[in-house]
Amino acid sequence: TDQKNIRNFSIIAHIDHGKSTLADRLIQNTGALTDREMKSQILDSMDIERERGITIKAQTVRLEYKAKDGQNYTLNLMDTPGHVDFAYEVSRCLAACEGSILVVDASQGVEAQTLANVYQAIENDHEIVPVLNKIDLPAAEPDRVRQQIEDVIGIDATEAVECSAKSGIGIDDVLEAIVTKLPAPEGDPNAPLKAMLVDSWYDAYLGVMVLVRVIDGKIKKGQTIKMMAADAEHKIERVGVFTPKGVIVPELGPGEVGFITASIKEVADTHVGDTITDVARPCTEALPGFQPSRSVVFCGLFPADTSEFERLRDALQKLRLNDASFEFEMESSAALGFGFRCGFLGMLHLEIIQERLLREFDLELITTSPSVIYKIHKTDGTMVELHNPADMPDVVRIDHIEEPWINATILVPDEHLGAVLKLCEDKRGIQEDLTYAGTRAMLKYRLPLNEVVYDFYDRLKSVSRGYASFDYDLYGYEQSDLVKMSILVNGEPVDALSMLVHRSQAEGRGRALCERLKDLIPRQLFKIPIQAAIGGKVIARETISAMRKDVTAKCYGGDVTRKKKLLEKQKKGKAKMRMYGKVEIPHNAFIAALKMR
Ligand code: GDP
Ligand code: MG
Repeated sequence: TDQKNIRNFSIIAHIDHGKSTLADRLIQNTGALTDREMKSQILDSMDIERERGITIKAQTVRLEYKAKDGQNYTLNLMDTPGHVDFAYEVSRCLAACEGSILVVDASQGVEAQTLANVYQAIENDHEIVPVLNKIDLPAAEPDRVRQQIEDVIGIDATEAVECSAKSGIGIDDVLEAIVTKLPAPEGDPNAPLKAMLVDSWYDAYLGVMVLVRVIDGKIKKGQTIKMMAADAEHKIERVGVFTPKGVIVPELGPGEVGFITASIKEVADTHVGDTITDVARPCTEALPGFQPSRSVVFCGLFPADTSEFERLRDALQKLRLNDASFEFEMESSAALGFGFRCGFLGMLHLEIIQERLLREFDLELITTSPSVIYKIHKTDGTMVELHNPADMPDVVRIDHIEEPWINATILVPDEHLGAVLKLCEDKRGIQEDLTYAGTRAMLKYRLPLNEVVYDFYDRLKSVSRGYASFDYDLYGYEQSDLVKMSILVNGEPVDALSMLVHRSQAEGRGRALCERLKDLIPRQLFKIPIQAAIGGKVIARETISAMRKDVTAKCYGGDVTRKKKLLEKQKKGKAKMRMYGKVEIPHNAFIAALKMR
């Protein structure tokens, strides 16, 4: 295609506002797939994504569209991940296009996630086409939402396109708006190759596939390329585009989006945002804004059944083939045996990996208390990054501790504002701003990340009955009065349950955790103290009283089969327990105890 007839765009939307449905419609209306090939929600490929209605990995599709001006256009639709954990991938995706379609549910209005993504798009100099979706719904109020887009986001929405992705109304208008409102890509076909690495994944047949957007020059088979940040060279084996089926093409020029395969061994050797150039004729400057992906949340994953360690290792290696943004290394715990310390982009990312291990590999896991990265400044003037509370140096050697903070934006209907403010205060938040957008409050808070990673998102949803939306970015480290709280069961510290908490919250958390564990740990033949302690000082204590009789005693020896059954049941239970000194802790106790933090 002629460069002036290319349009590269992404769709930005809050979860459930209809991004995937609209994408499917655009694919269908441009005839990229026959009806038979068209299965719903093509862009959301993984099961978990589909169930949770979120897009995790970016995908792209090339569409051929004959516009009303009689010309043929190539439209590259780049789907972006829809969750805060994947903010960096969103930003790289946006950097690879010239425009965005902003989809807003006409019955709901603007949400925090929408705002955050629109601002990113504006930062990338995008032209933005607002689309009011779901106008088929009786509750749709396109005029009100149009006004809201202008008031809250501050972009002109007078020409916003009204459509229903579900019933197919207005889809041609969306396509025409893409062609007429969005600019064609700039770029010099004769300049040295400069392309952006947008995404990469592992394909069972083709190996590592790399999604690229060419800025200048050309990329073709046989060329030796250099990935500038990774400082690696590879010879290109294939060049292609997704229609959404993969199709081989001879080359990709400026403004084009497609995939390459080369002699790349692992997804981990590619970095989203890296600049690709030609070794024989390199470009002088790399693209701006490259950032290596960095784990934000860490936790230990241990097999519930110790004999499954090798299976867990295999599974993690397999998952990593497709997701270079999570990392793991072997770890051993006094209590849990061998497992892995894993790093994730955020809590959702952690949950996704955990869920995939269970579903795709049938592995039951014990997850230790998630931790953010703390900076421990020691009295000898050195600083260490702490990923695991169990590795905390002795308090006498610590000068001070810093923890990461975030800037959060929360949009919430007025009637739930009070509850959300209380939640933010409970989480040590500092209010920065409170404004109104119609009947919705827009809150800006600074919050410590360690309060957010745990259950903030779930709590926010629950206190606002699902109406609040939330987005954040990390902004830096600040000194904080943090202490390591240990949990002792029968006098033995349980390393998997130790955590760093703010001193002001230690007692409350410690008490709650002890109470919870008291209910979760089965009684034994002796009394079991459960304690929360800071250093040597016990701050909370509960006791599990001793069990009086043997469990089989009440079977009176008469019914042998019943007795056998009972013993078997006990044995089975035992397989999933861990010994702490003399005490057995069922593995679900860890999960339940950690959930309530
Ligand atoms: P995404 O999370 O933004 O990708 O949203 P989806 O495309 O998955 O859509 C979320 C839900 O809204 C699904 O149940 C869709 O069927 C529904 N939906 C999407 N577009 C429309 C529409 O135009 N009208 C109606 N009534 N429902 C829609
Ligand atoms: Mg979707």
